[in-house]
Amino acid sequence: MVLTGSTLRVRIPDMKRVSQLFISTLIAGVALLQLSCGDATADSKEQASQDEGPKPEANASKPVQPTKPVIKTEEEWKKSLTPEQFEILRKHGTERAWGKAYDEWKKQGAGTYYCAGCDAELFSSKEKFDARCGWPAFFDSSKHENIKTLRDTSFGTVRVEVRCNVCDGHLGHVFSGEGFDTPTDQRYCINGKVLKFVPFAEAGKKDSKKKPE
Ligand SMILES: [Zn+2]
Repeated sequence: MVLTGSTLRVRIPDMKRVSQLFISTLIAGVALLQLSCGDATADSKEQASQDEGPKPEANASKPVQPTKPVIKTEEEWKKSLTPEQFEILRKHGTERAWGKAYDEWKKQGAGTYYCAGCDAELFSSKEKFDARCGWPAFFDSSKHENIKTLRDTSFGTVRVEVRCNVCDGHLGHVFSGEGFDTPTDQRYCINGKVLKFVPFAEAGKKDSKKKPE
């Protein structure tokens, strides 16, 4: 077998071109991702375990609604939540934008969204809209008494934080007057990982006749 110099000369520039193309495609991809949302306060703690997020329960049904405030110690919360849910709900964290939870939320049909910390009803598909900012968005809550808002001045900006009024868990932020064509022009920008989705059909099994308006 004879390897001639010309064979080598032809292949090396080809390889270079291929790898340069690959690298520039990668750079373009990363730049696109970073451009996609201005409010990227995504925390860096979402790393190795981020793909092992909570899996949607196959036989989810409407959870029992809490009738009084849910108060737990930090240790108890750690036991009842996934690490990502604990970081968001109890430590004011933010999930990565355009993540798996957002993809799942987009695919979900008609149903109700409950707090992952305490099962209180928070939102429903009737208030859901895609604001294309990388996180689940709703123009209103489906149970106003289960939501509370607070002024948040972290990261050098003034925002309105949204919390669960039952367990005091951090859910996200609400923005107003952005020009969305919705009944309220408010955007509840919520971390998908702290929402439990239950389709209306499942809830309807126990909840007799709950017809969408
Ligand atoms: Zn809650």
